[in-house]
Amino acid sequence: MRAVVTGAAGFIGSHLCQHLLAHGDEVVGVDAMTAFYDPVRKRRNLAPLLGRDRFVFRRGDLLRLRLEPLFGAADVVYHLAGQPGVRGSWGSEFAVYLERNVLVTQHVLEAARDVRLPRLVFASSSSVYGDAEAYPTPETLRPRPVSPYGVTKLAAEQLCETYRTVFGVPAASLRLFSVYGPRQRPDMAFARLVTAACADRPFPLYGDGGQSRDFTYVGDVVKAMRAAALSGWAGVANLGGGSEVTLRQVISLLGELAAPVRVVPGPARPGDARRTAADITLARRAFGYRPATGLRTGLAAMVADAVRADPVGSSPTGPLGSTG
Ligand code: NAD
Repeated sequence: MRAVVTGAAGFIGSHLCQHLLAHGDEVVGVDAMTAFYDPVRKRRNLAPLLGRDRFVFRRGDLLRLRLEPLFGAADVVYHLAGQPGVRGSWGSEFAVYLERNVLVTQHVLEAARDVRLPRLVFASSSSVYGDAEAYPTPETLRPRPVSPYGVTKLAAEQLCETYRTVFGVPAASLRLFSVYGPRQRPDMAFARLVTAACADRPFPLYGDGGQSRDFTYVGDVVKAMRAAALSGWAGVANLGGGSEVTLRQVISLLGELAAPVRVVPGPARPGDARRTAADITLARRAFGYRPATGLRTGLAAMVADAVRADPVGSSPTGPLGSTG
């Protein structure tokens, strides 16, 4: 397949490009290299892709690019570009979230409609649920986001549904649940924890550690994205990791895999849901989704990657922010 991946230099986008290339697809990666976190990391994410046959990189802001020529030759567009992170989405930063998550997605959908794109896969988020009314949460439950970030992801997902219903744009919106693995964004809890453990730095814990997430390994996510594209299925589906784990349990497991983490307790931050847990029945039926990587294996891969990238633990931690 000929694929366009937006957000190709990011955490999940760079894994997706690798996965697609490994399966023989042609990939055009697009990314604005935003400064939400150090673009040096994004260049590092891209490095193994650049120079490979069947991979082309276009640097640019999707809102300012002419997308029709880019999408016109594609069998599928994976739309991952966006502004992630729940805690930073309050206040004046909301304008950035609105632009990168909502306006950009509308721009993508207009182009998808105009070129009659055969397939669109959108990276939505478990943040649309907020504090859900039931667990594990099925897609049919009323979304109740507790962060402005979640509101923008829900708006973008609803736009996908609107263009699908009105114009037949074949969009699959996948609600990703706390994705982790090598090269995870530095603001996310696992990346901060691994840095804290490997470099013996304190870890600021927001809340009592009893908050739980349905952590999902990045390799399972990118496999599911391609499977969703190939299946032709459209709609909204959860992609969770298959088990719910508290942050306290993650900290204890990391102690076994790397080193004990020095936790510095702090208050919970607004925007964080207390719990997430995905009902993944729909994704399993629609495109055979079965998360295969358990937490111990996935976390060990992250630790190994961190040690490889920075054996003496000298790199600075990223901005301290989101758990998902
Ligand atoms: P990331 O920040 O590492 O990647 C996003 C990329 O998009 C960045 O490289 C950024 O430069 C690029 N980008 C942003 N705005 C752009 C624009 N206007 N034009 C072109 N490029 C632009 O984030 P990630 O963790 O890889 O997340 C990827 C997607 O998955 C995001 O849409 C995020 O909301 C969604 N998501 C992530 C998670 C998670 O756990 N990581 C969970 C749910 C949903």
